[in-house]
Amino acid sequence: MAGESGSTLEERSSAVDGSPVQLELDGEAVTAPGGATLLDLLTRDGRFFPHLCKHPDLDSPQTCDTCLVEVDGELVRACATPVRPGTRVASRSLRAKAAREEAMQRILEHHELYCTVCDNSNGDCDLHETFSAMGIDTQRYPHRPSGHAVDDSHPFYRYDPDQCILCGRCVEACQDLEVNETLSIDWSLPRPRVVWDGGVPAGHSSCVGCGHCVTVCPCNALMEKSMLGRAGLLTGLDSSVLRPMIDLTKDLEPGLGLRSILAVSEAESALRPSLVKRTKTVCTYCGVGCSFEVWTRGREILRVQPRPEAPANQISTCVKGKFGWDFVNHPDRLRRPLVRRGDRFEEVDWPQALAAVAEGLRRVREQHGPDALGFIASSKCTNEEAYLVQKLARAVIGTNNVDNCSRYCQSPATMGLSRTVGYGGDAGSIRDIEQAEVVLIVGSNTAESHPVIATRVKRAQKLRGQKVIVADLRRHEMAERADIFLRPRPSTDLAWVLAVTRHILERGLADERFVEERVEGLEALRASLEPYTLAFAEQTTGIPAATLAEVAETIGRAKSVCCLWAMGVTQHHSGSDLSTALSNLLLLTGNYGRPGTGAYPLRGHNNVQGASDFGAMPDKLPGYQPVQDDEARGRYEAAWGVRIPAEPGLDNHQMVEAIHQGRLRALYLVGEEMGLVDTNALDVQAAFEQLEFLVVQDVFFSNTARFADVVLPAAPSLEKEGTFTNTERRIQRLYQALEPLGEAWPDWRIVQGVAQALGADWHYEHPGEVMAEAAALTPLFAGVSYERLAGFGSLQWPVAPDGQDSPLLYIERFPFEGGKAHFHPVSFAPPSEEADGDFELHVNNGRLLEHFHEGNLTARSAGIAELTPSVFVEVSPELAAERGISDGALLRLRSRRGAVEVRAIVTDRVRGSEVYLPMNARRTDQAVNVLTSSHTDPATHTPAYKELAASLEVLEPSGPTPLPRRNFRYGRRTPQLGVRVEEKWRRADYRLPPDRRPEPAAPAPSNGAR
Ligand code: SF4
Ligand code: SF4
Ligand code: SF4
Repeated sequence: MAGESGSTLEERSSAVDGSPVQLELDGEAVTAPGGATLLDLLTRDGRFFPHLCKHPDLDSPQTCDTCLVEVDGELVRACATPVRPGTRVASRSLRAKAAREEAMQRILEHHELYCTVCDNSNGDCDLHETFSAMGIDTQRYPHRPSGHAVDDSHPFYRYDPDQCILCGRCVEACQDLEVNETLSIDWSLPRPRVVWDGGVPAGHSSCVGCGHCVTVCPCNALMEKSMLGRAGLLTGLDSSVLRPMIDLTKDLEPGLGLRSILAVSEAESALRPSLVKRTKTVCTYCGVGCSFEVWTRGREILRVQPRPEAPANQISTCVKGKFGWDFVNHPDRLRRPLVRRGDRFEEVDWPQALAAVAEGLRRVREQHGPDALGFIASSKCTNEEAYLVQKLARAVIGTNNVDNCSRYCQSPATMGLSRTVGYGGDAGSIRDIEQAEVVLIVGSNTAESHPVIATRVKRAQKLRGQKVIVADLRRHEMAERADIFLRPRPSTDLAWVLAVTRHILERGLADERFVEERVEGLEALRASLEPYTLAFAEQTTGIPAATLAEVAETIGRAKSVCCLWAMGVTQHHSGSDLSTALSNLLLLTGNYGRPGTGAYPLRGHNNVQGASDFGAMPDKLPGYQPVQDDEARGRYEAAWGVRIPAEPGLDNHQMVEAIHQGRLRALYLVGEEMGLVDTNALDVQAAFEQLEFLVVQDVFFSNTARFADVVLPAAPSLEKEGTFTNTERRIQRLYQALEPLGEAWPDWRIVQGVAQALGADWHYEHPGEVMAEAAALTPLFAGVSYERLAGFGSLQWPVAPDGQDSPLLYIERFPFEGGKAHFHPVSFAPPSEEADGDFELHVNNGRLLEHFHEGNLTARSAGIAELTPSVFVEVSPELAAERGISDGALLRLRSRRGAVEVRAIVTDRVRGSEVYLPMNARRTDQAVNVLTSSHTDPATHTPAYKELAASLEVLEPSGPTPLPRRNFRYGRRTPQLGVRVEEKWRRADYRLPPDRRPEPAAPAPSNGAR
């Protein structure tokens, strides 16, 4: 055997260098790109060549031996053998063919063939397709049961060892793509099998339910439970019928041959497209923007199947995107419009509902003027819907009082980037983050809030040695994995960022040429940094000066740096300034405009980027054109035939203030649980009580809907068409997978209905027409069209009229006059609220992996609710010891605004008197925002969610744990590189094909690793 088994990690992950290589293949001279493998060569242009364990998005585990070929007379695995100049490759030699057939025969011994009644037999089963294409007609070794029980313990998938061919794809995916490091194959067992955390049930392991393993499994060994018994014509049979059918098939097989049996299953499989619909969609749960196909049968969701061509995520997903969709059929869905009648709501039809909305809005406008109305678009809805909400406000009502929930998270990042580099969006793509030499993550729990982006960082770190610096209060997964973990005191990040910037300047680590050629304002920046020595930063943050010097050196000397940040930065009173300082740091070190560089403020909601891009902002028309800009405003006025006010309107925060002051009297709220997710929630709810007229448009009857006069039932993403824009500024289409439930309507249709009821002459038949209008009026999206976005197509803005998009910004110039970026000096200021004698704790808050925001959708997903049923507060071991708290203790947290009661878990993810209260509470008495204040970042009015002090009262020192013991947070990972196939090869019962194994088969459980 040629020595590919000993290939090093560097060899396995080496990039294709591209220089052509000449070699001989089956007697013919061929040319292949350098760095390609023989398997790449053999499968070029869609040619078939057997291989099973190699998945296109994963390194080859080299477990299956089905791609063996001869190179210069030696058998090698084509998947792991690079093309080399001058070699002679024989893929069709008798020896190579015999080796591949023997390898496939051994695989079939591990897998019971019952394709006709298998839910995976849908044309996508790599095992079925491969042995069928190889023309294998008889099974040399009969199937041998593994002796291991089916593992049914995970809520989302099941593992059947009797179907598992031990290819190791799942392990590769879990270890080195997702990098959750849960799976391995225990090659030491008499009959090896896939194991979770070294050998616990899947549903009690560190498995985060991302589904990578299920997605890449080439057969039915790992299957979504939602598929089982549902995907085929005959697969729903009861086991009492199914088992005899399988046995009958087996009895017939020796006479008929495998081909005849397969013909039956292929005929059945050909009928499945008429039963199962596959629809491309875009995830609704976070700004990563994963796209995938959703398989549905009627209203049942069978599977979410990511595809390699998905531009942001390829085959990756997280638990929400892969498994969190059953909320669409939840009995709580709003199915008909509701109108308030006194203390209760009455179901009405759409004409009545739209008339009620129009009447309410018109009344307030007539009595108090257009600026007495406010509109809040949803960053969960589509770009087209955001566009229509702002058009409704501006063109139909005549006010700029329109905003979206980016006000709660992303506006400070947009401000920081607008001040320094121009565009309020990520500087590049997820691929740039992957490529960077150093990734700096500040205030982002990336593994939970942007899980697929986290996989790219974890993978680059594990396989390529990317350096990861994490600054956070909590020791979350990324902090645990960091090469340098900075744990500042709450709300002091700006101090260390300024000090690191100063140190870089002082030590000559700045990119002087970049600064000279491309940035203005260096001297002002230098002067502004004068007070921020490392000693000052150490005193303020608690981070040793030497550590900060190391950070400065690491960033200053790196060839490429990406900086990721999220709400741990933005949700502070200095959120805009900290975002600005991070951008200044990147500019000073020349980290813009090249692959692997740039600023990445990770967008939270799926369309928080797009809702702002498409004009749901009080001061900006679509494409960030100021409303004061006469030319821009005039363009929309001419197209819409109206006058638009020239002054900015009120943002979300100002709208709440204006309601209290009696200036704002009607609010139209689309898809936001504002009564729980805005800070100082009791104050917001009190404001809602004062409104003369409130319209809430949502998928469920939310907490906020309790205050409404009219509630309009909306359709979630699977039930409509449109586009979302992800954190990379990438616009992607979603297609309709299901009909709207009951009488729910897509939001764009509802907004149009309201506009029409108010007399507007709107006649959009499809969201594509809305996009065409927006693109025609907005230079940033000039070349965006549904045709260019078809299927898995995408465009990253700015998009030129000819469709040329911009994956990487600032390559040649910054979008300021003169083309140079701007250093924007900022200074440190202490937080708006700190722990003190009366309120002794700092309450940190944020997302959980499993739940989307407050959980209105994800808490209605049965599997997610099972794993993470309720909210909890994380308490440090020190605080627990001091206050006599154990897991399950009931605590009352009280701030200056209100109090909540939640059960505790004790964990060293938090330290000292810092506690963490996630935001997945659907009850007011548990919601963190009952505690948070109305303090804001002055530049953007983004609330300072993270600046929160509270007192603690122990109501019960122990109790039922709020986080089931089977939750992944209690699991113990088993990190390793790949599948460790060397352990298989070292087994006494392994021989390289075409050597056959001795006959007859030794009885199970021996001999199992072939
Ligand atoms: S974390 Fe769980 S679902 Fe994800 S790849 Fe690993 S075992 Fe599979
Ligand atoms: S469970 Fe894993 S090892 Fe088994 S067949 Fe599926 S991907 Fe391969
Ligand atoms: S929640 Fe985010 S990371 Fe998870 S699947 Fe959806 S878009 Fe991808």
